[in-house]
Amino acid sequence: DWMDACADRTVVRAEPQSFCAGVERAIEIVERALARHGAPVYVRRQIVHNTHVVAELERRGAVFVQELEEVPEGAVAVLAAHGVAPSVRVQAIERRLQVIDATCPLVAKVHQEVRRFTGAGRTVFLIGHAGHEEVVGTRGEAPDHVVLVESIDDARTVQVPDPDQVSYVMQTTLSVEEADEIAAVLRERFPALQSPRRDDICYATSNRQQAIRDVAAVTDLVLVVGSPNSSNSTRLTEVARAAGTRAHLVEDAAALDLRWLRGVHRIGVSAGASAPPSLVTELIDALAALGDLEVTHVGGITETVQFTLPREVV
Ligand code: SF4
Repeated sequence: DWMDACADRTVVRAEPQSFCAGVERAIEIVERALARHGAPVYVRRQIVHNTHVVAELERRGAVFVQELEEVPEGAVAVLAAHGVAPSVRVQAIERRLQVIDATCPLVAKVHQEVRRFTGAGRTVFLIGHAGHEEVVGTRGEAPDHVVLVESIDDARTVQVPDPDQVSYVMQTTLSVEEADEIAAVLRERFPALQSPRRDDICYATSNRQQAIRDVAAVTDLVLVVGSPNSSNSTRLTEVARAAGTRAHLVEDAAALDLRWLRGVHRIGVSAGASAPPSLVTELIDALAALGDLEVTHVGGITETVQFTLPREVV
């Protein structure tokens, strides 16, 4: 077994992978807030869903809280990349906080769609996962007029007051394929269904899914670096499995289980949009320590998306 664990191997990196523009922006906002105001800078919820990112910012003086009521009046508070319900912004005003909003502009766009649709008197189906922070925030724009649709079953049975006045939006980090299937069921049941102007699943999510599908096709095992509460990372393992390849989500190199490597010669490696590239390097280094390792890559969609920073930190 030990011999087998040390066999010659190839790592096939999925490109693109790891940080997206929204995550880079959110982390930079906290770093700049720390540089400008000094520690502590309060951050509501995990700035992005990654344990290592949060620990590193904590080390530098960020204080993560669940709710704004834990933040001292008048202090600097950053809102995480996943977005918040309007009620949270009201709370921030009441506490006279200096708010810096790190909501990804692509999440903010979905909030805007919800406001536009519900403002026109329509019911909005929100395709997404219950309890995820982005979904809680998006739904919070109009809680009485947004109906969560989590699955094809939900899409088949959901009821609305006026079937002619319906629209849908999506969580940004869904599986493209699953979300399309759900939207198709809704469209069939509600012919008047209005769709968002552009797909809500973000460029980073769809690019990473496409790359991992290509990688899964040529590997025996896929490892995805990411935290378990990261939606887009979890979807990457599911997409790899749907392509017929075993896949594991790993927090970091320490989570590597050598038993997974038995009989495996080609290992696909990717990372969720919230997972730092340094963790991927460490994982590949750990694999290289087991024997000869060749590293190649598959994919190659170039990402050029960049977002401007909020004026509070420029
Ligand atoms: Fe924005 Fe997409 Fe990144 Fe989420 S995964 S922060 S929506 S770019």
